[in-house]
Amino acid sequence: MSRVRRSVSLRLANSLRVESVAEEYVEASDASELCAVLGRARRDSVPVTLLGGGTNVVPLRRIDGRVVRMASRGMSFRRCRGGVRVTAAAGESWHRLVRECLGRGLAGPENLALIPGTVGAAPIQNIGAYGRELSRWVSGVSVVDTVSLETSVLDASACAFRYRDSVFKSEEQGRYVVTAVALDLRDDPPESGYPELARELARLGRAPSPAWVAEAVIRLRRRKLPDPRQVGNAGSFFKNPTLTVDAFDRLRGRLDIPGFQDGARVRVPAARLIDVCGWKGYRTGDAGVWSRHALVLVNHGGASGREILDLAYRIRDDVAQRFDIELHLEPTVLGRG
Ligand SMILES: Cc1cc2nc3c(=O)[nH]c(=O)nc-3n(C[C@H](O)[C@H](O)[C@H](O)COP(=O)(O)OP(=O)(O)OC[C@H]3O[C@@H](n4cnc5c(N)ncnc54)[C@H](O)[C@@H]3O)c2cc1C
Repeated sequence: MSRVRRSVSLRLANSLRVESVAEEYVEASDASELCAVLGRARRDSVPVTLLGGGTNVVPLRRIDGRVVRMASRGMSFRRCRGGVRVTAAAGESWHRLVRECLGRGLAGPENLALIPGTVGAAPIQNIGAYGRELSRWVSGVSVVDTVSLETSVLDASACAFRYRDSVFKSEEQGRYVVTAVALDLRDDPPESGYPELARELARLGRAPSPAWVAEAVIRLRRRKLPDPRQVGNAGSFFKNPTLTVDAFDRLRGRLDIPGFQDGARVRVPAARLIDVCGWKGYRTGDAGVWSRHALVLVNHGGASGREILDLAYRIRDDVAQRFDIELHLEPTVLGRG
């Protein structure tokens, strides 16, 4: 049974590199160990907070209760109808999964190369990049229900995947712990239509094979996003908002901004709105906005989670005031203080 440690610093366990102390911390190496950990927390009446790679969270000074991290490893690849089923444990690195797929000549998740974090967290916000989202391939998400402690497998429709959202992040937040994810890869034709990606492939002078799409994506990400090992950050801090067609037309009358159809609405890049408001490169103390990408908030060294969050709220309020558009945070705020 895994050991519960007390007063554990999470500074190196979150990509914003902000100081945060977990009252208790424990790792589970598989689903049965997780059930024991959750059972013990319930017996002790201790709240549980899940943590993966810490790349999409804003930890505040203190997290009460027990922080639980899935440390399970393992991947399997087996033929299924029309393709290959890839099953990976929650604690695996997402990018390693993408590399393993590429190494086996399996097409699909190459547009999601270099997204940091774990496989277990990938369904939480239905990770996506450069025109593709995880939900496209999910055949099942293995979970432990924190209420009943029962294990089950949710199919894609039960996961209710949406843009940067799912049942795990909204309707049933905190109810399920993901222990494994199964993806069915069916030799997708490469997706290279995303304008920035198409330009990078053209620059590389390469046809869009899965390997070259991954290469182009990795180059773009390295150019645009700060490496969390050097500059603390949590990737995009806000989701791209959607507008009615009328509101989008009005906005376009005020500034040059692209729009992407999303059902009956139009999704617009939050980065453009933040940039127009003049926040790119802004810094207050050690909290700032990345100079090459207005959607990325950074910790220049000693910022706290609260300072990063306060800056995010100032940006959100400014965009709301100028454009009457509400921005929503993408990362999850953990703890208090
Ligand atoms: C530089 C950078 C670039 C990024 N680019 C992208 C991008 O292009 N697209 C994108 O979608 N995201 C992106 N992200 C965000 C992040 O990488 C993803 O959301 C990733 O899936 C988070 O994984 P994690 O293991 O770090 O999760 P964490 O940050 O540890 O947790 C995220 C949420 O999931 C919950 N959680 C974690 N593990 C489990 C589990 N096993 N079961 C249940 N709940 C769990 C946590 O409680 C928390 O609410 C980026 C982040 C960074 C730092």
